[in-house]
Amino acid sequence: MPQTAPIALVCDSPHSGSTYPDDFGYSVALSDLRKCEDTLVDALWADAPKVGGTLIHAHFPRSYIDTNRACTDIEVAMLSDPWPGEVQASERCLTLGNGLVFSKTTTLADIYDRKLATSEIQRRIDSCWKPYRSALSEALRNTRAAFGRAWHLNLHSMPSNAYERLGRVSDTPLADVVLGDLHGRSCSPAFTRCVTDAFQALGYRVSINDPYAGQDLIREHGQPGTGCESLQIEINRKLYLDEETREPNARYSQTRRDVSHVLRVIAAFIQAEVANPTHRHTTEKTP
Ligand SMILES: [Zn+2]
Repeated sequence: MPQTAPIALVCDSPHSGSTYPDDFGYSVALSDLRKCEDTLVDALWADAPKVGGTLIHAHFPRSYIDTNRACTDIEVAMLSDPWPGEVQASERCLTLGNGLVFSKTTTLADIYDRKLATSEIQRRIDSCWKPYRSALSEALRNTRAAFGRAWHLNLHSMPSNAYERLGRVSDTPLADVVLGDLHGRSCSPAFTRCVTDAFQALGYRVSINDPYAGQDLIREHGQPGTGCESLQIEINRKLYLDEETREPNARYSQTRRDVSHVLRVIAAFIQAEVANPTHRHTTEKTP
């Protein structure tokens, strides 16, 4: 919750959880499984409440259930009995085993040596997916009720070999920070510009939608025409994390300070936008 006067900012970190539930039942090395985490992203952005924002983060790991996937993104081949609901498996689910419940680690090792019962998946949806999604929806609803508008930062980190992992070839090295706005649909160009400029001013290389444009959470909430702007932020793990041990690396403290500075720039942008209604709905064209 905000630790100072609240502003119209809600941050969420869906993938930084590292508390592995007793009923997970995985059969792969924990060190391999942990590479699915966005480890310490919640800690990097921990100053969000100090600028008046709300910060929501998961405790459970994203490999257990991924709250940034639709609950229809089910890999039916990993189940022991038929899924009773609708199924709309994404390409990442079918090709990389990274749907709602992961079947594979990021090194494509099988997470389970067994089939999962649909009741097991349903329990994870009820105990983790739904509460997380509800908490974020409620925070954004309350923010819009209080301020008329809301800005949502969906926070992640990416492996330093992201292009390889995605099976892509790029002419340029992976950026330090990747901002995803669903190719301009989830927030105004002005907000994407603000966050780009804030990172670039500190010397970070920023790319937009390459290689990550955003997933289910910003798709659900990012609707600038109705007053909610969502932006996904991916930070390159080499800037803060030992990717093998999952411990902070030598650059961690600097990166955390830089992120806190970016938060202050974003807070100033939001307060100016709320104070000046002429800036409203900047994605709308003048009639
Ligand atoms: Zn993530």
